[in-house]
Amino acid sequence: MTASPLSQVLKGRLLTFSDRPRSVDDTESYAYWAHGALAIQGGKIVWRGDAAKLPQVYQTWQVMDHRDHLILPGFIDTHTHFPQMGVIGSYGAQLLDWLETYTYKQEARFEDTLYCQTVANAFLDELINNGVTTAAVYATSHPGSAHALFEAAHARDMRMIAGKVLMDRGAPDAVCDTPQRAYDESKYLIDAWHNEGRLSYAITPRFAITSSPAQLELMQALAAENTGCYVQTHLSENQFEIDETLRLYPAAKDYTGVYEDYGLLGPRSLLGHCIHLSDRELGALKNSDSIAVFCPSSNLFLGSGLFDYSGMIEADIRVGFGTDVGAGTSYSMLATAADAYKICQLKGYSLNPFESYFGLTLGNARALSLEGKIGTLEVGTEADLCVLNSHATSAMRTRMESVNSLAEELFVLQTLGDDRSIAETYVGGRARKTSAI
Ligand SMILES: [Zn+2]
Repeated sequence: MTASPLSQVLKGRLLTFSDRPRSVDDTESYAYWAHGALAIQGGKIVWRGDAAKLPQVYQTWQVMDHRDHLILPGFIDTHTHFPQMGVIGSYGAQLLDWLETYTYKQEARFEDTLYCQTVANAFLDELINNGVTTAAVYATSHPGSAHALFEAAHARDMRMIAGKVLMDRGAPDAVCDTPQRAYDESKYLIDAWHNEGRLSYAITPRFAITSSPAQLELMQALAAENTGCYVQTHLSENQFEIDETLRLYPAAKDYTGVYEDYGLLGPRSLLGHCIHLSDRELGALKNSDSIAVFCPSSNLFLGSGLFDYSGMIEADIRVGFGTDVGAGTSYSMLATAADAYKICQLKGYSLNPFESYFGLTLGNARALSLEGKIGTLEVGTEADLCVLNSHATSAMRTRMESVNSLAEELFVLQTLGDDRSIAETYVGGRARKTSAI
């Protein structure tokens, strides 16, 4: 653990959301201060508003001046795989081939503790480079991989959700466990890390194909014994995956029905992809308050299909946005929003920029049931922030010459921006990208 951050004031343009913006004109859904100030103490926001109205008591505090930049809540990634850093951008396969050809071979390397530590640290540095302060992360089936990620996140005081992947069949032995090992190792990791500082555990069966009924049965018991933990898995990404799942679970009503039968749906269940769902399955997600996680970059890269974002919103199903690195091709949530926009266009829905940034911040905090802790600039919440520079590259500077509104600026940032547009990332009030305060 690092020492408690200094009391400080950040100056800049502040943007924070209170609800999902229905349009760019939905000014009720967000607050914006063109000359804002944010006072931080003990890792939490203690005041925010117009800089000219900064109370006397904060005026002697150290000031970080980000005046021309936008200060937003830190971005949240609700679905990513840290062990896949080594296979991001691997060519020419759809889901099941991609797993077999690249992913399982790469994940086998995580038997090595030192390798786990090296990649875990590199991964968290990459998140910070991209303004991402919280993520829901898959490790590998090796408990050491999850342990290394928790250890590295704890050292940075990051709010992080992660779990060891559970898989006992349909993949090489080097990446498989057994039902009992899956239970015992998950239990050990829950005891060691769940609610330790800002960390939470996610029970993480990879997907139904690689978990036997015996394993899912034990995971049901584990989830029932640890109701504060998350459950994260994949659902209905690709037609071959769906067909194989139904072959392996012939008694299930459908793919969603497999998880339903084993009690794995619920308000803390993060279901990656959810592309090819029937009305019955959508109803099951809604009734259980499960979360559909939209991973646009990955869905385009693997040719998996087009997520029905507006349909999910209409059906009142909670939606998270995720990178799904390494099938997703960028660590950047800006790039993720850009790809989400393109998929929504193909589905006949224009995702407005305010809605995108709501999704990356408060929307994702709600998806993780963490509203009130992260995802806004509200007083009392944790000071996880990203500072955005919409003039970071020459192409952006040229484009910004003809930008006349905040909505346009946000859209340019998501379309042309990347890690270079993240001027700073604060984790618990501490600058983590460019310097240590
Ligand atoms: Zn995934």
